[in-house]
Amino acid sequence: MEADLVVLGGGPAGVYAALRVRELGGRAVLVEREHLGGTCLHRGCVPTVASLQAAHLRRAQLEGATWGLAASTGAPDLETLRHRRDRTVRHLQTATQDYLREAGVEVLLGTGRVTGPRSVEVEERSGRQVQVTGRALLLAVGAGFSLPELPGIDSPGVWTTDHALDATHPPGELAVLGGNFIGIEWAQFFQTMGSRVVLLEPGPHLLPGEDAEIAEVLQFILEQGGLEVRLNWAPEVFSQAGPGRVSLRGPAGELQADRVLIADCRRPLVHGLPLADLGVETVGGAVAVDDRQATGAQGIYAAGDVTGGMMLSQAARAQGVVAAENMMGLESRFDPAGCPRAYHTVPEVAAVGLTEAQAAEAGLETVAGRAEIGFNARALTLGKELGMVKVVAARPHGKVVGVHMVGPLATEVIGQAVLALRLEALAEDLAGLVHGHPTVAEALAEAAQDAARQL
Ligand SMILES: Cc1cc2nc3c(=O)[nH]c(=O)nc-3n(C[C@H](O)[C@H](O)[C@H](O)COP(=O)(O)OP(=O)(O)OC[C@H]3O[C@@H](n4cnc5c(N)ncnc54)[C@H](O)[C@@H]3O)c2cc1C
Repeated sequence: MEADLVVLGGGPAGVYAALRVRELGGRAVLVEREHLGGTCLHRGCVPTVASLQAAHLRRAQLEGATWGLAASTGAPDLETLRHRRDRTVRHLQTATQDYLREAGVEVLLGTGRVTGPRSVEVEERSGRQVQVTGRALLLAVGAGFSLPELPGIDSPGVWTTDHALDATHPPGELAVLGGNFIGIEWAQFFQTMGSRVVLLEPGPHLLPGEDAEIAEVLQFILEQGGLEVRLNWAPEVFSQAGPGRVSLRGPAGELQADRVLIADCRRPLVHGLPLADLGVETVGGAVAVDDRQATGAQGIYAAGDVTGGMMLSQAARAQGVVAAENMMGLESRFDPAGCPRAYHTVPEVAAVGLTEAQAAEAGLETVAGRAEIGFNARALTLGKELGMVKVVAARPHGKVVGVHMVGPLATEVIGQAVLALRLEALAEDLAGLVHGHPTVAEALAEAAQDAARQL
Protein backbone atom coordinates (compact mmCIF):
# COMPACT_ATOMS: atom_id res chain seq x y z
CA MET A 1 0.00 0.00 0.00
CA GLU A 2 1.38 3.44 -0.93
CA ALA A 3 0.66 6.86 0.60
CA ASP A 4 2.06 10.37 0.78
CA LEU A 5 1.96 10.23 4.58
CA VAL A 6 1.84 7.14 6.77
CA VAL A 7 0.62 8.13 10.22
CA LEU A 8 1.37 5.90 13.19
CA GLY A 9 -1.17 6.68 15.92
CA GLY A 10 -4.78 7.88 15.72
CA GLY A 11 -4.88 10.46 18.53
CA PRO A 12 -5.29 14.22 17.91
CA ALA A 13 -1.81 14.54 16.34
CA GLY A 14 -2.33 11.69 13.88
CA VAL A 15 -5.97 12.40 13.02
CA TYR A 16 -5.44 16.10 12.24
CA ALA A 17 -2.24 15.39 10.28
CA ALA A 18 -4.05 12.86 8.11
CA LEU A 19 -6.99 15.22 7.53
CA ARG A 20 -4.66 18.06 6.56
CA VAL A 21 -2.83 15.86 4.04
CA ARG A 22 -6.18 15.04 2.44
CA GLU A 23 -7.16 18.73 2.35
CA LEU A 24 -3.93 19.42 0.51
CA GLY A 25 -4.70 16.71 -2.02
CA GLY A 26 -2.39 13.98 -0.70
CA ARG A 27 -3.02 10.36 0.22
CA ALA A 28 -2.93 9.53 3.93
CA VAL A 29 -2.95 6.14 5.64
CA LEU A 30 -3.53 6.20 9.39
CA VAL A 31 -2.72 3.23 11.63
CA GLU A 32 -4.34 2.95 15.07
CA ARG A 33 -4.00 -0.02 17.40
CA GLU A 34 -6.75 0.80 19.92
CA HIS A 35 -9.38 3.47 19.34
CA LEU A 36 -9.51 6.42 16.97
CA GLY A 37 -9.29 9.62 19.00
CA GLY A 38 -6.42 8.37 21.18
CA THR A 39 -5.83 9.14 24.83
CA CYS A 40 -7.60 12.48 24.60
CA LEU A 41 -10.93 10.97 23.62
CA HIS A 42 -10.80 7.67 25.50
CA ARG A 43 -8.72 8.08 28.70
CA GLY A 44 -7.86 11.79 28.88
CA CYS A 45 -9.53 15.12 28.20
CA VAL A 46 -13.03 14.01 27.21
CA PRO A 47 -13.83 11.40 29.90
CA THR A 48 -12.15 13.57 32.55
CA VAL A 49 -14.10 16.71 31.65
CA ALA A 50 -17.32 14.65 31.38
CA SER A 51 -16.66 13.33 34.92
CA LEU A 52 -16.01 16.89 36.11
CA GLN A 53 -19.41 17.89 34.74
CA ALA A 54 -20.93 15.41 37.20
CA ALA A 55 -18.86 17.03 39.95
CA HIS A 56 -20.22 20.47 38.92
CA LEU A 57 -23.78 19.17 39.10
CA ARG A 58 -23.15 17.61 42.50
CA ARG A 59 -21.65 20.84 43.80
CA ALA A 60 -24.73 22.67 42.55
CA GLN A 61 -26.93 20.07 44.31
CA LEU A 62 -25.07 20.57 47.57
CA GLU A 63 -25.12 24.37 47.27
CA GLY A 64 -28.75 24.50 46.10
CA ALA A 65 -30.09 25.84 49.41
CA THR A 66 -28.05 29.05 49.08
CA TRP A 67 -29.94 29.75 45.81
CA GLY A 68 -33.35 29.03 47.35
CA LEU A 69 -33.46 25.51 45.90
CA ALA A 70 -33.77 22.36 47.96
CA ALA A 71 -30.33 20.80 48.51
CA SER A 72 -29.97 17.12 47.65
CA THR A 73 -27.21 15.06 49.23
CA GLY A 74 -27.77 11.46 48.05
CA ALA A 75 -24.67 9.29 47.49
CA PRO A 76 -23.10 9.62 44.02
CA ASP A 77 -23.49 6.69 41.64
CA LEU A 78 -20.24 6.44 39.69
CA GLU A 79 -21.50 3.52 37.55
CA THR A 80 -24.27 5.65 36.04
CA LEU A 81 -21.82 8.49 35.58
CA ARG A 82 -19.52 6.12 33.68
CA HIS A 83 -22.29 5.00 31.32
CA ARG A 84 -23.22 8.60 30.63
CA ARG A 85 -19.58 9.51 30.01
CA ASP A 86 -19.06 6.50 27.72
CA ARG A 87 -21.99 7.67 25.58
CA THR A 88 -20.23 10.98 25.00
CA VAL A 89 -16.98 9.19 24.11
CA ARG A 90 -18.75 6.81 21.68
CA HIS A 91 -20.53 9.73 20.02
CA LEU A 92 -17.25 11.54 19.41
CA GLN A 93 -15.51 8.36 18.28
CA THR A 94 -18.17 7.77 15.64
CA ALA A 95 -17.88 11.40 14.57
CA THR A 96 -14.09 10.97 14.20
CA GLN A 97 -14.50 7.79 12.15
CA ASP A 98 -17.08 9.45 9.87
CA TYR A 99 -14.96 12.55 9.47
CA LEU A 100 -11.89 10.53 8.45
CA ARG A 101 -13.92 8.36 6.06
CA GLU A 102 -15.61 11.35 4.41
CA ALA A 103 -12.25 13.07 4.04
CA GLY A 104 -10.84 9.96 2.33
CA VAL A 105 -8.24 9.01 4.94
CA GLU A 106 -7.50 5.29 4.77
CA VAL A 107 -7.63 3.88 8.30
CA LEU A 108 -6.00 0.60 9.27
CA LEU A 109 -7.03 -0.67 12.70
CA GLY A 110 -4.13 -2.69 14.03
CA THR A 111 -0.68 -2.43 15.57
CA GLY A 112 1.92 -0.79 13.37
CA ARG A 113 5.60 -1.70 13.46
CA VAL A 114 8.07 0.64 11.81
CA THR A 115 10.14 -1.55 9.46
CA GLY A 116 12.05 1.10 7.50
CA PRO A 117 12.58 4.83 7.15
CA ARG A 118 9.11 5.32 5.70
CA SER A 119 7.41 1.97 5.96
CA VAL A 120 5.17 0.39 8.53
CA GLU A 121 3.99 -3.18 8.83
CA VAL A 122 0.48 -3.38 10.21
CA GLU A 123 -1.06 -6.40 11.83
CA GLU A 124 -4.75 -5.70 11.46
CA ARG A 125 -7.25 -6.96 14.03
CA SER A 126 -8.43 -9.50 11.44
CA GLY A 127 -4.91 -10.97 11.47
CA ARG A 128 -4.13 -9.62 7.95
CA GLN A 129 -0.63 -8.18 7.54
CA VAL A 130 -0.33 -5.01 5.47
CA GLN A 131 2.87 -3.24 4.44
CA VAL A 132 2.42 0.52 4.00
CA THR A 133 5.06 2.76 2.46
CA GLY A 134 4.90 6.52 2.32
CA ARG A 135 6.81 9.50 1.01
CA ALA A 136 6.89 10.49 4.68
CA LEU A 137 6.18 8.94 8.06
CA LEU A 138 4.59 10.66 11.05
CA LEU A 139 5.28 9.25 14.49
CA ALA A 140 2.22 10.16 16.60
CA VAL A 141 2.11 7.33 19.13
CA GLY A 142 1.48 9.55 22.17
CA ALA A 143 2.50 8.90 25.77
CA GLY A 144 2.00 6.17 28.32
CA PHE A 145 2.06 5.85 32.09
CA SER A 146 5.49 5.42 33.61
CA LEU A 147 5.49 5.41 37.41
CA PRO A 148 8.51 6.94 39.17
CA GLU A 149 11.06 4.34 40.23
CA LEU A 150 10.44 4.49 43.97
CA PRO A 151 10.40 1.60 46.45
CA GLY A 152 6.88 0.23 46.94
CA ILE A 153 5.34 2.21 44.07
CA ASP A 154 3.70 -1.01 42.86
CA SER A 155 1.76 -1.36 46.14
CA PRO A 156 -1.93 -2.14 45.69
CA GLY A 157 -3.88 1.06 46.03
CA VAL A 158 -1.49 3.15 43.91
CA TRP A 159 -3.54 4.55 41.06
CA THR A 160 -3.00 6.19 37.69
CA THR A 161 -5.76 8.28 36.12
CA ASP A 162 -7.01 5.10 34.39
CA HIS A 163 -7.94 3.70 37.82
CA ALA A 164 -9.57 7.00 38.73
CA LEU A 165 -11.69 6.88 35.57
CA ASP A 166 -12.77 3.30 36.31
CA ALA A 167 -13.45 3.81 40.06
CA THR A 168 -16.81 2.37 41.12
CA HIS A 169 -16.91 4.38 44.35
CA PRO A 170 -14.93 7.29 45.81
CA PRO A 171 -12.11 6.19 48.15
CA GLY A 172 -12.50 7.25 51.79
CA GLU A 173 -9.10 8.96 51.84
CA LEU A 174 -7.21 9.84 48.69
CA ALA A 175 -3.75 11.32 48.29
CA VAL A 176 -3.12 12.86 44.87
CA LEU A 177 0.52 13.17 43.97
CA GLY A 178 1.16 15.94 41.45
CA GLY A 179 -0.30 19.44 41.47
CA ASN A 180 -0.51 19.66 37.68
CA PHE A 181 -3.94 20.29 36.18
CA ILE A 182 -4.74 16.57 35.96
CA GLY A 183 -3.98 16.10 39.67
CA ILE A 184 -6.07 19.10 40.68
CA GLU A 185 -9.02 18.07 38.47
CA TRP A 186 -9.13 14.56 39.95
CA ALA A 187 -8.54 15.82 43.51
CA GLN A 188 -11.58 18.10 43.12
CA PHE A 189 -13.63 15.36 41.47
CA PHE A 190 -13.18 12.91 44.36
CA GLN A 191 -13.48 15.64 46.98
CA THR A 192 -16.86 16.58 45.54
CA MET A 193 -17.88 12.91 45.43
CA GLY A 194 -17.17 12.60 49.16
CA SER A 195 -13.50 11.55 49.55
CA ARG A 196 -11.12 13.24 51.99
CA VAL A 197 -8.37 14.42 49.70
CA VAL A 198 -4.85 15.69 50.18
CA LEU A 199 -3.05 17.14 47.17
CA LEU A 200 0.74 16.80 47.22
CA GLU A 201 2.93 18.88 44.94
CA PRO A 202 6.70 18.27 44.92
CA GLY A 203 7.45 21.82 43.73
CA PRO A 204 6.96 25.25 45.32
CA HIS A 205 3.60 26.00 43.66
CA LEU A 206 0.69 24.24 42.01
CA LEU A 207 0.49 24.14 38.20
CA PRO A 208 4.25 23.93 37.58
CA GLY A 209 5.22 26.02 34.56
CA GLU A 210 2.23 28.35 34.92
CA ASP A 211 2.14 31.82 36.47
CA ALA A 212 2.94 31.49 40.20
CA GLU A 213 0.50 34.25 41.23
CA ILE A 214 -2.39 32.56 39.38
CA ALA A 215 -1.41 29.25 41.01
CA GLU A 216 -1.45 30.90 44.45
CA VAL A 217 -4.94 32.30 43.87
CA LEU A 218 -6.09 28.84 42.79
CA GLN A 219 -4.52 27.23 45.86
CA PHE A 220 -6.26 29.76 48.13
CA ILE A 221 -9.61 28.90 46.53
CA LEU A 222 -8.96 25.14 46.76
CA GLU A 223 -8.09 25.43 50.45
CA GLN A 224 -11.12 27.60 51.11
CA GLY A 225 -13.14 24.76 49.61
CA GLY A 226 -11.66 22.31 52.11
CA LEU A 227 -8.99 20.67 49.95
CA GLU A 228 -5.73 20.08 51.81
CA VAL A 229 -2.73 21.16 49.72
CA ARG A 230 0.88 20.42 50.66
CA LEU A 231 3.66 21.99 48.61
CA ASN A 232 7.29 20.80 48.43
CA TRP A 233 6.03 17.33 49.32
CA ALA A 234 7.83 14.56 47.44
CA PRO A 235 7.50 10.96 48.65
CA GLU A 236 10.53 8.68 48.48
CA VAL A 237 9.03 5.41 49.72
CA PHE A 238 5.60 3.82 49.28
CA SER A 239 4.50 0.88 51.44
CA GLN A 240 1.46 -1.09 52.45
CA ALA A 241 0.12 0.16 55.78
CA GLY A 242 -2.43 -2.40 56.83
CA PRO A 243 -5.32 -3.73 54.76
CA GLY A 244 -6.24 -1.36 51.96
CA ARG A 245 -3.94 1.44 53.15
CA VAL A 246 -0.91 2.95 51.46
CA SER A 247 1.77 4.85 53.31
CA LEU A 248 3.97 7.55 51.76
CA ARG A 249 7.19 8.73 53.31
CA GLY A 250 9.48 11.55 52.26
CA PRO A 251 11.61 14.36 53.69
CA ALA A 252 8.46 16.37 54.44
CA GLY A 253 6.89 13.61 56.58
CA GLU A 254 4.63 10.59 56.34
CA LEU A 255 0.99 10.15 55.48
CA GLN A 256 -1.44 7.35 54.80
CA ALA A 257 -4.41 7.05 52.47
CA ASP A 258 -6.73 4.39 51.03
CA ARG A 259 -5.60 5.24 47.51
CA VAL A 260 -2.72 7.27 46.06
CA LEU A 261 -3.26 8.73 42.60
CA ILE A 262 -0.04 9.48 40.71
CA ALA A 263 -1.16 12.31 38.48
CA ASP A 264 2.08 13.26 36.81
CA CYS A 265 3.43 10.09 35.21
CA ARG A 266 2.81 10.34 31.47
CA ARG A 267 5.95 9.92 29.40
CA PRO A 268 6.49 9.82 25.60
CA LEU A 269 5.99 6.30 24.19
CA VAL A 270 9.32 5.87 22.47
CA HIS A 271 10.29 2.36 23.54
CA GLY A 272 8.44 0.51 20.73
CA LEU A 273 10.05 2.61 17.99
CA PRO A 274 13.37 1.63 16.31
CA LEU A 275 14.58 5.21 16.60
CA ALA A 276 18.32 4.46 16.50
CA ASP A 277 17.91 2.40 13.30
CA LEU A 278 15.95 5.25 11.73
CA GLY A 279 18.50 7.86 12.76
CA VAL A 280 15.89 9.67 14.89
CA GLU A 281 17.25 11.33 18.02
CA THR A 282 15.64 11.71 21.41
CA VAL A 283 15.93 14.49 23.97
CA GLY A 284 14.89 13.82 27.57
CA GLY A 285 13.08 10.63 26.55
CA ALA A 286 11.05 12.30 23.78
CA VAL A 287 11.46 12.26 20.00
CA ALA A 288 13.49 15.34 19.09
CA VAL A 289 11.88 17.59 16.45
CA ASP A 290 12.43 21.11 15.13
CA ASP A 291 9.62 23.67 14.88
CA ARG A 292 8.60 22.12 11.52
CA GLN A 293 7.98 18.85 13.45
CA ALA A 294 10.78 17.25 11.43
CA THR A 295 13.12 14.77 13.09
CA GLY A 296 16.72 14.75 11.91
CA ALA A 297 15.92 11.77 9.63
CA GLN A 298 14.84 12.49 6.06
CA GLY A 299 11.04 12.21 5.63
CA ILE A 300 10.30 11.33 9.27
CA TYR A 301 8.15 13.70 11.30
CA ALA A 302 6.80 13.43 14.85
CA ALA A 303 3.97 15.26 16.60
CA GLY A 304 2.05 15.27 19.87
CA ASP A 305 2.92 13.72 23.21
CA VAL A 306 5.68 11.52 21.77
CA THR A 307 7.68 14.74 21.29
CA GLY A 308 7.25 15.80 24.96
CA GLY A 309 6.85 19.55 25.54
CA MET A 310 3.36 20.75 26.39
CA MET A 311 1.74 17.30 26.10
CA LEU A 312 -1.69 18.80 25.51
CA SER A 313 -4.30 17.84 22.98
CA GLN A 314 -4.43 21.19 21.19
CA ALA A 315 -0.62 21.19 20.86
CA ALA A 316 -0.75 17.65 19.41
CA ARG A 317 -3.38 18.71 16.90
CA ALA A 318 -1.49 21.86 15.85
CA GLN A 319 1.80 19.95 15.55
CA GLY A 320 0.14 17.26 13.43
CA VAL A 321 -1.12 19.93 11.04
CA VAL A 322 2.34 21.56 10.88
CA ALA A 323 3.96 18.18 10.08
CA ALA A 324 1.40 17.49 7.35
CA GLU A 325 1.86 20.91 5.75
CA ASN A 326 5.64 20.58 5.69
CA MET A 327 5.61 17.09 4.22
CA MET A 328 3.22 18.34 1.53
CA GLY A 329 5.67 21.06 0.54
CA LEU A 330 4.33 24.07 2.47
CA GLU A 331 6.43 26.02 4.95
CA SER A 332 4.83 25.73 8.39
CA ARG A 333 6.06 26.09 11.97
CA PHE A 334 4.62 25.27 15.40
CA ASP A 335 4.69 28.18 17.83
CA PRO A 336 4.09 27.08 21.45
CA ALA A 337 3.57 30.73 22.43
CA GLY A 338 0.30 30.77 20.49
CA CYS A 339 -0.98 27.51 21.94
CA PRO A 340 -3.32 28.01 24.92
CA ARG A 341 -3.57 25.92 28.06
CA ALA A 342 -7.11 25.29 29.35
CA TYR A 343 -7.60 23.54 32.67
CA HIS A 344 -11.01 22.44 33.96
CA THR A 345 -10.28 22.98 37.61
CA VAL A 346 -12.82 24.86 39.75
CA PRO A 347 -12.43 27.69 39.09
CA GLU A 348 -10.98 27.19 35.64
CA VAL A 349 -7.44 28.20 34.79
CA ALA A 350 -6.37 29.21 31.30
CA ALA A 351 -3.33 30.86 29.81
CA VAL A 352 -1.59 31.66 26.56
CA GLY A 353 1.92 32.95 25.94
CA LEU A 354 4.56 33.88 28.48
CA THR A 355 4.41 34.36 32.23
CA GLU A 356 6.17 37.43 33.64
CA ALA A 357 9.09 35.22 34.68
CA GLN A 358 9.39 33.60 31.24
CA ALA A 359 9.24 37.01 29.56
CA ALA A 360 12.07 38.25 31.80
CA GLU A 361 14.13 35.16 30.92
CA ALA A 362 13.54 35.97 27.25
CA GLY A 363 14.98 39.42 27.88
CA LEU A 364 11.68 41.29 27.62
CA GLU A 365 10.81 44.20 29.85
CA THR A 366 7.14 43.84 30.71
CA VAL A 367 4.27 45.25 32.73
CA ALA A 368 1.49 43.13 34.23
CA GLY A 369 -2.10 44.40 34.34
CA ARG A 370 -4.52 42.73 36.74
CA ALA A 371 -8.28 42.55 37.21
CA GLU A 372 -9.95 40.91 40.18
CA ILE A 373 -12.80 38.55 39.33
CA GLY A 374 -14.56 39.80 42.48
CA PHE A 375 -15.51 43.01 40.61
CA ASN A 376 -16.89 41.17 37.58
CA ALA A 377 -20.69 41.11 37.43
CA ARG A 378 -20.97 37.84 35.49
CA ALA A 379 -18.64 36.01 37.89
CA LEU A 380 -20.68 37.27 40.83
CA THR A 381 -23.96 36.12 39.23
CA LEU A 382 -22.33 32.69 38.96
CA GLY A 383 -21.60 32.82 42.68
CA LYS A 384 -17.85 33.11 42.11
CA GLU A 385 -16.04 35.92 43.87
CA LEU A 386 -12.44 34.81 43.63
CA GLY A 387 -10.12 34.82 40.68
CA MET A 388 -7.88 37.02 38.60
CA VAL A 389 -7.01 37.97 35.05
CA LYS A 390 -3.47 39.02 34.30
CA VAL A 391 -2.22 40.56 31.05
CA VAL A 392 1.54 40.63 30.46
CA ALA A 393 2.56 43.31 27.94
CA ALA A 394 6.04 44.17 26.63
CA ARG A 395 7.51 47.68 26.77
CA PRO A 396 7.68 50.06 25.05
CA HIS A 397 4.54 49.62 22.90
CA GLY A 398 2.54 47.22 25.04
CA LYS A 399 2.50 44.16 22.79
CA VAL A 400 0.56 41.45 24.63
CA VAL A 401 2.91 38.51 25.25
CA GLY A 402 0.89 36.54 27.80
CA VAL A 403 -2.56 36.28 29.36
CA HIS A 404 -3.28 34.24 32.49
CA MET A 405 -6.65 33.67 34.08
CA VAL A 406 -8.13 31.89 37.08
CA GLY A 407 -11.88 32.21 37.34
CA PRO A 408 -15.18 31.04 35.89
CA LEU A 409 -15.33 30.42 32.12
CA ALA A 410 -11.59 31.10 31.81
CA THR A 411 -11.18 28.20 29.35
CA GLU A 412 -13.61 29.90 26.96
CA VAL A 413 -12.53 33.52 27.42
CA ILE A 414 -8.87 32.63 26.73
CA GLY A 415 -9.77 32.25 23.05
CA GLN A 416 -9.88 36.05 22.79
CA ALA A 417 -6.36 36.25 24.18
CA VAL A 418 -5.17 33.60 21.70
CA LEU A 419 -6.43 35.82 18.89
CA ALA A 420 -4.82 38.88 20.47
CA LEU A 421 -1.41 37.17 20.55
CA ARG A 422 -1.87 35.83 17.02
CA LEU A 423 -2.66 39.33 15.70
CA GLU A 424 0.17 40.84 17.77
CA ALA A 425 -2.33 43.10 19.55
CA LEU A 426 -1.29 45.79 22.01
CA ALA A 427 -2.68 46.05 25.55
CA GLU A 428 -4.62 49.14 24.42
CA ASP A 429 -6.29 47.10 21.63
CA LEU A 430 -7.57 44.56 24.16
CA ALA A 431 -8.51 47.35 26.59
CA GLY A 432 -10.60 49.08 23.91
CA LEU A 433 -12.73 46.06 23.02
CA VAL A 434 -16.41 46.36 23.91
CA HIS A 435 -17.77 43.16 25.48
CA GLY A 436 -21.28 42.05 26.17
CA HIS A 437 -22.44 42.69 29.71
CA PRO A 438 -22.36 40.92 32.04
CA THR A 439 -19.56 38.64 30.77
CA VAL A 440 -16.28 37.43 32.24
CA ALA A 441 -14.50 38.80 29.16
CA GLU A 442 -15.01 42.29 30.60
CA ALA A 443 -12.33 41.40 33.17
CA LEU A 444 -9.88 40.70 30.33
CA ALA A 445 -10.39 44.23 29.00
CA GLU A 446 -9.93 45.65 32.52
CA ALA A 447 -6.65 43.78 33.04
CA ALA A 448 -5.43 45.02 29.64
CA GLN A 449 -6.43 48.58 30.63
CA ASP A 450 -4.41 48.21 33.82
CA ALA A 451 -1.40 47.04 31.77
CA ALA A 452 -1.78 49.90 29.25
CA ARG A 453 -1.85 52.44 32.12
CA GLN A 454 1.56 51.24 33.33
CA LEU A 455 3.37 51.63 29.99
C1 LIG B 1 -6.27 11.96 32.48
C2 LIG B 1 -5.83 12.86 31.36
C3 LIG B 1 -6.49 14.07 31.17
C4 LIG B 1 -6.10 14.92 30.15
N1 LIG B 1 -6.76 16.10 29.99
C5 LIG B 1 -6.40 16.95 29.00
C6 LIG B 1 -7.09 18.17 28.80
O1 LIG B 1 -8.06 18.49 29.49
N2 LIG B 1 -6.67 18.97 27.80
C7 LIG B 1 -5.61 18.64 27.00
O2 LIG B 1 -5.26 19.42 26.11
N3 LIG B 1 -4.94 17.49 27.17
C8 LIG B 1 -5.31 16.63 28.14
N4 LIG B 1 -4.65 15.44 28.29
C9 LIG B 1 -3.51 15.16 27.38
C10 LIG B 1 -4.01 14.66 26.01
O3 LIG B 1 -4.81 13.52 26.18
C11 LIG B 1 -2.81 14.36 25.14
O4 LIG B 1 -1.96 15.49 25.11
C12 LIG B 1 -3.21 14.01 23.72
O5 LIG B 1 -4.07 12.89 23.69
C13 LIG B 1 -1.96 13.73 22.88
O6 LIG B 1 -2.33 13.37 21.59
P1 LIG B 1 -1.39 12.44 20.70
O7 LIG B 1 -2.08 12.31 19.38
O8 LIG B 1 -0.01 12.90 20.75
O9 LIG B 1 -1.37 11.03 21.46
P2 LIG B 1 -2.58 10.01 21.91
O10 LIG B 1 -3.81 10.77 22.04
O11 LIG B 1 -2.01 9.30 23.05
O12 LIG B 1 -2.69 9.08 20.64
C14 LIG B 1 -1.69 8.17 20.29
C15 LIG B 1 -2.35 6.97 19.64
O13 LIG B 1 -1.34 6.14 19.05
C16 LIG B 1 -1.76 4.81 19.16
N5 LIG B 1 -0.57 3.94 19.01
C17 LIG B 1 0.50 3.86 19.83
N6 LIG B 1 1.39 2.97 19.34
C18 LIG B 1 0.85 2.46 18.21
C19 LIG B 1 1.26 1.49 17.26
N7 LIG B 1 2.42 0.85 17.38
N8 LIG B 1 0.44 1.20 16.23
C20 LIG B 1 -0.75 1.84 16.07
N9 LIG B 1 -1.19 2.77 16.95
C21 LIG B 1 -0.41 3.08 17.99
C22 LIG B 1 -2.40 4.73 20.54
O14 LIG B 1 -3.29 3.64 20.64
C23 LIG B 1 -3.11 6.08 20.61
O15 LIG B 1 -4.46 5.98 20.19
C24 LIG B 1 -5.03 14.55 29.29
C25 LIG B 1 -4.39 13.32 29.45
C26 LIG B 1 -4.78 12.48 30.48
C27 LIG B 1 -4.08 11.15 30.63
